[in-house]
Amino acid sequence: MSPINELELTRFIRRLFGGGDNGSVSLGIGDDCAAVRAQAGLETLVTCDTLCEGTHFAKPLIPPAKLGAKLVCVSVSDIAAMGGVPRYLVLAMNLTGEVDKKWIESFLRGVRKASRKFECALIGGNIAIAAKGLSFTMTAIGAVKKGRRVDRSGARPGDRIFVTGTLGDSALGLDLLLEKRKSYSAAQRKLINRHIDPTPRLKAGALLGSERIASSMIDVSDGVALDLRRLAEASGVSAAIELAGFPLSKQAGACLDANGPQVWQRILGGGEDYELLFTVRPSKLGKLAQAAGRFDTPVRRIGSITKERKPRLKIIGPGGVEPNLASEGWLHSL
Ligand SMILES: [Mg+2]
Repeated sequence: MSPINELELTRFIRRLFGGGDNGSVSLGIGDDCAAVRAQAGLETLVTCDTLCEGTHFAKPLIPPAKLGAKLVCVSVSDIAAMGGVPRYLVLAMNLTGEVDKKWIESFLRGVRKASRKFECALIGGNIAIAAKGLSFTMTAIGAVKKGRRVDRSGARPGDRIFVTGTLGDSALGLDLLLEKRKSYSAAQRKLINRHIDPTPRLKAGALLGSERIASSMIDVSDGVALDLRRLAEASGVSAAIELAGFPLSKQAGACLDANGPQVWQRILGGGEDYELLFTVRPSKLGKLAQAAGRFDTPVRRIGSITKERKPRLKIIGPGGVEPNLASEGWLHSL
């Protein structure tokens, strides 16, 4: 293992990310601050995410380049969830003896690959060498046209609830990874891939905002049940979702058939889907249908926003009845 030399690593980062800006960076990596040109008519969106070894990732289970790309993905997903477009990234690394030069260079190449794919520039960051606690914090900075931002708080009774893509694949993929099997089938590898290499829904998010289709939006990072609850709470409303017709991949559907209803717990509560969960007023449903062809993924309706005296999330089971969450046990973690 070749240890990390901070100066050498800084030079490597400058070389790797130099010249990769998207036209609005006046000063990139290398000074005390980066400088970017502000643009009239735009609002700036700022968010950050941390991945800690042992909590958010296990080093033996994910290659470093995939981890770097995933960190970019989870950060820009929050920008998409506001209807914005990611522009810049700032990376803070807390490095320990658990990683060597080769590992960290591979991680950074993953960051670069994803940042190019999502057309955003890494413009700065920080390196700290610590005794323990390997972690990476990515700040993502994005832009959205004034008046087109989509907050969590805009849902009203009568709005329909939609999601992009399919739900539960990432959690089911993580379960498979944790089994540490010697080999996996092609179907299993598809689920695993959704866990280690998620796709942020940038195109759908930007269109849902710019075309004023979504009344509220959030990205699904902690499981659709919890994230929908967050959206409903922010909006002061209740929500009802129906599991029949839920958007599941072929692989997740097969898992449900093989292992029974407890799989719903992972689909609803597992998290790390990085799909967009959003609401649409009935008057905008036609507009959604028109725009959906331009999204990077299909969208599916999963329920409606309701008005109940006590705000809550109602889940209508696959048989059309509301499961008794407490006695049936299969949703105990929600
Ligand atoms: Mg989020």
